[in-house]
Amino acid sequence: MAGLYIHIPFCHSKCIYCDFYSMPQTARLDALLDALAREYELRRDEITAPFTTVYIGGGTPSIVDPAKLARLCKALPMSDAEEFTIEVNPEDVTAERIKAWRDIGINRISMGIQSFDDNELHAIRRRHSAADVMKALDMLLEGGINNISCDLIYGLPGQSLMSWQDSLKRLLDYRLPHISAYCLSYEPGTALHVRMSAGKVTPTDDETLEIMYSNLCRATADAGYEHYEISNFSLPGMRSRHNSSYWTGTPYLGLGPGAHSYDGKTRRFNPGKLKEYIDSASITVVDEETEDERFNDLLITALRTADGLDFSELTPERAEYLNNAVKPFIANGQIITNEIGRLRISEAAWFRSDAILRELIIA
Ligand code: SF4
Repeated sequence: MAGLYIHIPFCHSKCIYCDFYSMPQTARLDALLDALAREYELRRDEITAPFTTVYIGGGTPSIVDPAKLARLCKALPMSDAEEFTIEVNPEDVTAERIKAWRDIGINRISMGIQSFDDNELHAIRRRHSAADVMKALDMLLEGGINNISCDLIYGLPGQSLMSWQDSLKRLLDYRLPHISAYCLSYEPGTALHVRMSAGKVTPTDDETLEIMYSNLCRATADAGYEHYEISNFSLPGMRSRHNSSYWTGTPYLGLGPGAHSYDGKTRRFNPGKLKEYIDSASITVVDEETEDERFNDLLITALRTADGLDFSELTPERAEYLNNAVKPFIANGQIITNEIGRLRISEAAWFRSDAILRELIIA
């Protein structure tokens, strides 16, 4: 069992908060698709287990002409995929595309909707409106794709507690299998960060953000969703299998500029350089992690999940270190032992997980 990730770094335009490896152009799309197929040929022996999950992410892969996407998929090992996801933006969803995606084998959609408030969407320069979201969801459901995940963002410029709760409620009313919700981040280098530095936008205060997160936890729980990772919620049995594999150490092969890979022992990454990638499709670099970095990675990923971390996954020295480091957090209830006997951050403390993890990792 393994995952296959394909990165398409092109978008219609750049949202002002985005620090993903993406660019507002499609000029070299054909060359990129050729390079992706070539990269797979060069690296096909790295992971021999069948790819049971496939995820086409970006960027905005829904801008790719489905006929071209189909040609790429034919060149890749997709036949074992039980979960096959594509990231889409609402404005790209059409009945023709839905049919074409299904014909390729895509059976799960991850759609970035972010908000149901048009002013909030405009403030972060999303291209779609709330009406586009509703139309896209209706078309997907009518088109036979029911396994849908939608992303929301809280802490948007101009967003009130009431409008956040309204977006949440409107999304929950669809009773989709999966929801992801993220706190808006002001990353250096983004246009949003520049606007903040110039005093044109003020970040939401921490107290309000914590209330928004708590609203999110409560509303999703009341609607029957399982909160299985800090930012991810699913109806029973509908966790994202592909994303879960990143948190559980399942091997995955990442193709495309900026993509990461893990073969079960070694982590690799492709630098985010489109020209070099297209010219060679073989720019993978081994990520030379130290033992401490490996331990920190395990801690950070496992404690982001409700399944948590088992001491038996650690060497005796690391287990002893962690046992001592978590004592104050166990005493104040921020770290607990879950129902399967593993260590996790309590849901109430997940909002503060960055601060907790900073204390636990080996500096
Ligand atoms: S659509 Fe997604 S990847 Fe593209 S710029 Fe916006 S946030 Fe970034």
